[in-house]
Amino acid sequence: MFIEQGPIRPPSEAASLLIRVTRNCPWNKCAFCSTYKGEQFSRRPVEDVLRDVDTARRIADRVVQLAWEKGFGGRVNAEVVREAGARYGHLYYHVAAWLYYGGKTVFLQDANSLVLKTSDLVRIIGHIRKVFPAVDRITTYARANTAARKTGDELRELREAGLARIHMGMESGADVVLKKVQKGITAADLLEAGRKIRDAGISLCWYIMPGLGGREHSREHALETASVINAANPDFIRFRTLSVLKNTPLYDMMQNGEFTPLDEDEIVEEQRLLIESLQGVTTTIVSDHILNLLQELEGTLPGDRERLLGIIDRYLSLAPHEKANYQLGRRAGVYNCMDDMQNPNKYQFVEGLLEKIGGPGKLKGELSRIRRQFV
Ligand code: SF4
Repeated sequence: MFIEQGPIRPPSEAASLLIRVTRNCPWNKCAFCSTYKGEQFSRRPVEDVLRDVDTARRIADRVVQLAWEKGFGGRVNAEVVREAGARYGHLYYHVAAWLYYGGKTVFLQDANSLVLKTSDLVRIIGHIRKVFPAVDRITTYARANTAARKTGDELRELREAGLARIHMGMESGADVVLKKVQKGITAADLLEAGRKIRDAGISLCWYIMPGLGGREHSREHALETASVINAANPDFIRFRTLSVLKNTPLYDMMQNGEFTPLDEDEIVEEQRLLIESLQGVTTTIVSDHILNLLQELEGTLPGDRERLLGIIDRYLSLAPHEKANYQLGRRAGVYNCMDDMQNPNKYQFVEGLLEKIGGPGKLKGELSRIRRQFV
């Protein structure tokens, strides 16, 4: 049995069933992105998508049967997930893991599902809910200008069908930055899309890319991003710190001096300016991407504002050697938060790593290398 799946989904959809409705990205020009480079965009025929949903149902039924055979009363546990993967391969592992985590969420791939006709999307979403009645959250990625082109009625129709959340790469609210990285959208597109989505009752999650303005535009990047967020009040913003990848146009811009990357401290200072500038919003800030130095930077405004700024100030006030230790420990996966440095075993382990790479002076190059592996 086969289901077609795309390469990525948001970190928060790790436990979702992945259903691919389009292939790749219809824009595919962002200077920092290599996800779909060289790949052709296409819409999948609706009938093929519906067939994938039916196949997922058959796989789910087989996994539950396996859970009975193994004496777990049909309950899918970690052992059933392992066994399903070992016996039948990755797809069964994916569906079994989805059932293990509740089997309630579905993510529609790839980069911009709203390019489909609204009636096609409504049909796909309706079919998922019919075939999997326990599903209570269906989400997708969309580009701002595509979402802005949908009418309020179309977005409401999608929400009524069951589209609960749209994940959108905002990256920046500064037009100068959006233009420089060839995002193909403007702050006005973001605002229009954001307002329409929220008015339709669909949850909106914007992805912000700290560092994307480089030294050249860091301040505008922070302030204008905050200003668009203030005007649209998205449900979530998620930080996903920039990592400049080789074989992207942004890497070439960096090589020829048009783009100067920020260091770790400058990125955190930029995040501080952004959070400090958020006013009158009830947005939840999430830092769940591995690329973020301060993963603990999470909370809901306005109540958590001082705590969030306190986390940033705690990091910025660390002594230089402690900062180097934290940066490496975080990037090496030893620390999740600054409190982890209090654990003597972890701290000493990271000291050993620092020594191995040649001390804090060699850290910058090593951190860029590690960060590139995360994308
Ligand atoms: S819209 Fe998204 S997927 Fe497409 S090129 Fe830009 S960042 Fe990459």
